[in-house]
Amino acid sequence: MNLASQRALVAQGCRVAASRGLVDGMLGHLSLRIDDGHLLIRCRSDTDTGVAFTRPSDIRLITLDGKAGAPGELDGYRVPNELPIHVETMRADAGHRAVAHVHPPAVVAADLAGIAIRPVYGAFDIPGARLARGGVPVYPRAVLIRNTQLAKEMVAAMGGRPLVILRGHGITSAAGSIEQSVLQAISIDELARMSLRVRAAGGTLRDIEDADWDHLPDLGSGFNTESAWRHEVARLDGQPS
Ligand SMILES: [Zn+2]
Repeated sequence: MNLASQRALVAQGCRVAASRGLVDGMLGHLSLRIDDGHLLIRCRSDTDTGVAFTRPSDIRLITLDGKAGAPGELDGYRVPNELPIHVETMRADAGHRAVAHVHPPAVVAADLAGIAIRPVYGAFDIPGARLARGGVPVYPRAVLIRNTQLAKEMVAAMGGRPLVILRGHGITSAAGSIEQSVLQAISIDELARMSLRVRAAGGTLRDIEDADWDHLPDLGSGFNTESAWRHEVARLDGQPS
């Protein structure tokens, strides 16, 4: 995939995240590692109208230390304050090619309500259930992660898992692709919404039965990622694809 296509994909990921309510207004950003020294990241500009309206031109090529990755890349654009979230998450694991940092209200609310994200359902969303089964850690500080030290703390809290909840803030979701990083975030948001709903109905949250995992197979990336992403893109456009 060439750089222009990669810019378009990161921008599309931002719009999908916003359309799913994972991010509101101006806050939140996605990134994609290009090589050892470069990444594409959602930047800010004076014509920015918010994450839901991200254009491919809002995605800029930078170095891992936040400088322009090619002449002119940061002319009129600023990297987000929380760039260290992306850089340190990528440095922690070569498999973390894509990073989504978003602020899903339901996930923040569930954590603040003392609800841990657990596999409370199964076939309702198998990738989400499997993600929860492996554990969803929490970084307990509500700070703006604007320096390397805080980002390293966050990565330590992440503990090798693909997704971490940032208390009173949002989430960081890391994956091998933009699609996967956003789909993981959607799954966690759905788990949080369902958990809040069960609690609101007076129910108790319980993990599904161990025996049920034998019949919750990984349906493969063709279904979990490719078709799921086709759906996300189609619903962005509001018409059948
Ligand atoms: Zn943030």
